[in-house]
Amino acid sequence: MPITALIFDLDDTLMPEHHADEAALAATLQPFVDEDEVSDDVLAKLVWKSSREAWLASPFREYAQTVGTSSLEQLWAPEDRSTPELAGLSDWSIAFRETVWRGVAEDLGLDPESCWRMMDLGFQQERGIRHFAYGDVIPVLDSLKGKYPMGLLTNGIPKVQRHKAAAANLIDFFNPVIISGEHVTRKPDPILFEAMLKDLNVDASEAAMIGDRLATDIAGAAAAGITTIQVYRPGNNHADGDEATPDHVITDLTELAEILE
Ligand SMILES: [Mg+2]
Repeated sequence: MPITALIFDLDDTLMPEHHADEAALAATLQPFVDEDEVSDDVLAKLVWKSSREAWLASPFREYAQTVGTSSLEQLWAPEDRSTPELAGLSDWSIAFRETVWRGVAEDLGLDPESCWRMMDLGFQQERGIRHFAYGDVIPVLDSLKGKYPMGLLTNGIPKVQRHKAAAANLIDFFNPVIISGEHVTRKPDPILFEAMLKDLNVDASEAAMIGDRLATDIAGAAAAGITTIQVYRPGNNHADGDEATPDHVITDLTELAEILE
């Protein structure tokens, strides 16, 4: 069966997530340390450590895991009050942010009281300016537009994922947009892939899933009978320990044309 519909993952497939986090953390914290004293990598790790500690104690941890949002995302995420759980998470994250940045200031030998608010605001700004698509993405989506129905299937909090996709000028390419948080589950749950196929009005054999993660995008789509294409962008972390084998592997979206021929 020829491929007639395309399903895309968002984070680290169409726009950087991990590297955007790391760059924003470094940009936030470099002003607080002497030049060249601490590497970007070490600064980012300080925040991962501080946020992980506070995250483990969170009453929303299980819920956050279920919908696929991370501790780091709660350091900048716009408020989403669309369900009681999301409203609770948004409220909880206010104290979480203070705890995390106070911990980071302490680890850097700084006065937490005088630093944490600047770090908090700084990170929200620095992360906010880093929502952009990879260079190959918009031209390829432009070339596919009108030829293939294209859906976006992403794990996370609805408002956060929509915000990122819109800020990166991606959202208008996709209809439908399915975000795991709307269904209180996450990829690889087959429910999400089935909902996508139904909305696209195609059979699994006519669709291809394009995503970076084996455990979520590739395993979930393969289980649903969808052709799988892994986007293996050099420098990204793909070591998620799953055994799923994609039908195709590409390093950027320009290679899609050949597969779809
Ligand atoms: Mg991804």
